[in-house]
This record gives sequence, structure tokens and C-alpha cells, in this order.
Amino acid sequence: MIKGRGMVEKYRELLLNNVRKQINVWFDKEYTQGTPHAEVYRFLHSITGTATTIGLDEIGNTAKELLEKLKEQEERLWDQKELKEYLMPLVSICYYNGSEEPLTITQNIKNKGNQSLVILIDDDPTFLMYVKEALEREQILVLALTDPHKAVSILYDLKPDCIIIDVYMQSASGFEVLHYLKEKMKQQFIPTIMMSVDNRKEIRVKSYQMGADDFIAKPFEMDEFIVRLKRQIERKELIDHLVLIDELTLVYNRKYLNNVFKLLQNETVQEDEVFTLAILDLDHFKNINDTYGHLMGDEVLRTFAGFLKEKLSSFDIIIRFGGEEFVLLFPRTSLGTAKGQLETILHEYGQKEYVANSTRFHITFSAGMVEVSNNGQSLEEWMELADSALYEAKSLGRNQIVLANKEQITTHKKVLKIGVIDDDPIIRTMILEMIDNMQKEESILLEVESFRDGAKFFESDWYKSENPYILILDGMMPRMDGLEVLQKIRAEQNSEQYTVIMLTSRKSEQDISRGLQLGADDYLTKPFNLLELEARLKRLIQRMK
Ligand code: GH3
Ligand code: MG
Ligand code: MG
Repeated sequence: MIKGRGMVEKYRELLLNNVRKQINVWFDKEYTQGTPHAEVYRFLHSITGTATTIGLDEIGNTAKELLEKLKEQEERLWDQKELKEYLMPLVSICYYNGSEEPLTITQNIKNKGNQSLVILIDDDPTFLMYVKEALEREQILVLALTDPHKAVSILYDLKPDCIIIDVYMQSASGFEVLHYLKEKMKQQFIPTIMMSVDNRKEIRVKSYQMGADDFIAKPFEMDEFIVRLKRQIERKELIDHLVLIDELTLVYNRKYLNNVFKLLQNETVQEDEVFTLAILDLDHFKNINDTYGHLMGDEVLRTFAGFLKEKLSSFDIIIRFGGEEFVLLFPRTSLGTAKGQLETILHEYGQKEYVANSTRFHITFSAGMVEVSNNGQSLEEWMELADSALYEAKSLGRNQIVLANKEQITTHKKVLKIGVIDDDPIIRTMILEMIDNMQKEESILLEVESFRDGAKFFESDWYKSENPYILILDGMMPRMDGLEVLQKIRAEQNSEQYTVIMLTSRKSEQDISRGLQLGADDYLTKPFNLLELEARLKRLIQRMK
């Protein structure tokens, strides 16, 4: 007989620990011998018996179902992969962090992958954590930053729906950040909200004068804050929907591509015409930003667009597809003719001299081209062809044009590397499986790898490539803990390549704040919701395309 609450809890803990321990052994990479059928049976049987008794119904029922299924199967030696797959439903609900609440993976997240993203810049980690939690309950993703300087590079890559900035911060004034971002964001509308404990009229007026869309005094009522924030996000959605011109370069933006492509396609059908599509991408553009600053980078984009306008005919259509990528459409023009024109532009642009910090430099671009004929292929398919050609132009050394080969779409895909660094094999397994499933829906190639600790991670060459990385990093690990790993990554030369999501225990507020200070891009508290992690990854991936 089990008496009293404390007693039951103790047994629950014991059971969960045993389950975890067993699974740990079975799932460990180094445990390669197969598991006898009878052992799996005994394992499930004992959980079925105990779990429900001590109130762990969900676990008990899941184990029971698995046990029933097991009875129908023939006796054999289970290999690791097979066993993992089989036990996954159980593993998912058994994941506990100490004696805290179980991981709820059944809870659903609305609008997965499609949530709004807010960047919150404040040097007070406690405040960041508080607001982040409240907003994420509203299905708004929050990237909390203590370092305002990071916001700038993140802006290009993540395209947030709103930015919230604290007026007073240690490393920089919020106004400086606002000024910088506003300069930067001339090209696209991103609402900004200033916040401060200093609610004097002059501070409020200054915020508005500098282009802030709202000012919120601290402390504030969370519900009002959320409403005001959501209004800003809605405004952005509306404006995005209406605007077809890229404000930085004054050429069309990506949204216009769909419209104009349809128009041209109709023309090809009616008049049995063809047109040519080109994707242009500036070479080593990142270096310009890194060497001469983002404002110079912007200047280059502006002048490049201007150059294209000047050299192309007024019938040709220029679209800024994203970052430093442009799409050109040459109506009623064959591939041969268009290529001739673009060759001239390639050559002439390469001669153009830029000057920054009294250094002279040149910039080149690469391009992929394809002739669009009337064969019913979609815009995406044509773009993919041109993109493959562009990819080839890059790998052939850049500063050149490659024509797409219609027969073979090379299946080059962008690669995103995702590293899971966690000493808990259950977490590693769950996350890997989740990402495997995500791969099915992604056009990006996800290369996942897991590491049992930081040392193993740094020993491998896996993290040294030119691809972008997302690292899911456990805070507490033996040998080298998460913060140490983070520190080391941030000291790497290409540290910007790595987006780091920390997994921390809810209790260690200090770890979170330290993590953010050391340059973590985001964090999840353990026990975390797998779907939440998935939504977050999807969002990051979507933004990387
Ligand atoms: P590659 O020759 O392979 O194309 O190398 P790359 O450096 O040009 O390509 P990559 O895609 O690695 O880098 C593009 C950079 O452009 C990354 C991003 O931060 C930056 N970027 C994107 N949009 C803007 C923008 O509007 N202004 C500025 N200044 N930089 C931008
Ligand atoms: Mg480029
Ligand atoms: Mg690019």
C-alpha cells in the first residue's frame, strides 16, 4: 500500500528514473549490441503494471499499448534504430527534468512556423525573460537580446515583425540603436516600440521624433502591452501586403515577382513567345559588410540596382529578391540575346570602382539564367533551374553567368547544419527524430549531428564549414558546460554563422542571463515543449531561405 502524497511522488520519481536509465543505456550511441525481445517485453510490462498505480496514467497507457503491439510481433533481437522508433511515444512522455512537470508534447501550437517574431532588446535579463514568457504564451516568438549590436545583423537574416528597444542600456543608448535601425530599415517597414522607466515627456517626444511607432512606460500592464504590440504587428502585415517596391533600392520587391511572372506567362501562351529569367547574386557581399560596415553594404546594393536600371531597357524588370539577390526578367527575349546583354553588364559592373575609408575596391556578381517557354512549369520550377545555374556559377569561381540546363535540375539545396549538444541521449534522440521529420517538408537540406558534450563537438570537424549553423545547446553538461561551449563558439572567427539556442533549467535564471550575455540567440527552458522547439526551428529555417 502506498500512503500519502510524498510517498507516491517518491515512487513516481523512482519509476521515471528507471525508465530514463534504461532508455539511456539502449539509446546510447556506444551501445551497439541488440536488445533481446524478452528484455523489451519485461521493461514495458513492469511500467504498465506500476505507472497507472502511482497515477502516471499516460505513461501506463502508452506502455500498455506498446506491450500489446509487441505481443503481435515475432521474437527477435531489436537493433537500436528499431527500438528507438518503437519506444518513441513512451520516451516523449517520460522526459522529465528532475522532479519537474513532464514534458507535454501533445499540447499544440497554433500557426506552427508562421508565428510573428519580435526582437526585444534590453540589458536586463530578468525583464527579457518575463516578457518573453508572456509573449510566447500568445504564440509570438521572441528573440531576446541583451546586446544591441547583435540586433543589426539579425535584422537582415530574421526579418522581425516588430522591434522593442529599452531606452536605457549599459552598452548603448536605446536611441542610438533606434537611430541605427531606422537608418537601416528605410528599405523595409518594421515597427519599433521604445520602452523606458523614464516616462518624461521629453523622452516620449524624442522617441516619436526619431521614428518610434509607440512608446511604452515601464512598469506596464501586460495585457495592454500585448494589445499594443499586436496592433503594430498587424500594421506591418498590412503594409507588407500593399507595398511592391523595395525602399532601399527602389526596384520591385519579391512580392511583385509572382504578379509579373503571371503576366509574362500569359503572354508566352497567347503569342507563343519566350522570355528570360535571371537570378543575380553579388559575390562575397558579406565581406563588404564585414570590412566597410552595413551602411556601405546598403550603398552597394543601391548603386548596383541603379546600375542595372541604367543598363537595361525600360521593358526589362528588376526585382530585389532578397538580401543581395536580384531577379531580372527580359520580356520577349531569347536566352541568347539576354545573355549577351547581361554579359556586358557583368563586365562593366566589374570595372566600377567603389571607395570606402579611402580604399578602392571592385564588386562582381554571379548569375544563373533560364529561358522560360510555354510548357506549364511553375515559377518555382523556373526559379529552381536558374538557381541551380547560379549555384554552379558560384562554384566555378564567381563573376560569371551560367545557363540553366533544362534537362537536369541539379539537386543542389541550401544546407543548414543543426547540432544538438546535450549529454542526455533521450533529448538527443527526440530532437534528431523531430528534425528528421521536418526534413520531409523542407526544401533546405538539414544536416543534423548530435554530440554528447562540448568537447566532442569541438573535436569534430563538423562545425567547421561555410554553412550556417543552428546549435541546440544544453546548459549543463559534464566536461565542458554549455556556457563554456557558447563562449568558445562566440570567440570563433565566423561566430555569426552560428545561431545558438540554449536549453536551460527553469530554475537557473542566472544561467539564462549569462547565456544571453555570452551571445546565445535564444533559449528554451527545460522541460521544454518539443513542438515549441520545432516551431522555432521552422521559423529560423524559413528565414534562412
Ligand atoms: P557568395 O559569393 O557565396 O554569394 O557570398 P556572400 O557573402 O555574398 O553571400 P552570403 O549569402 O553568405 O551573405 C549575404 C550577406 O548579405 C548576409 C547578410 O547579412 C547581408 N545582407 C542581406 N541583406 C542586406 C541588406 O539589406 N544590407 C546589407 N548591408 N547587408 C545585407
Ligand atoms: Mg552573395
Ligand atoms: Mg546570397
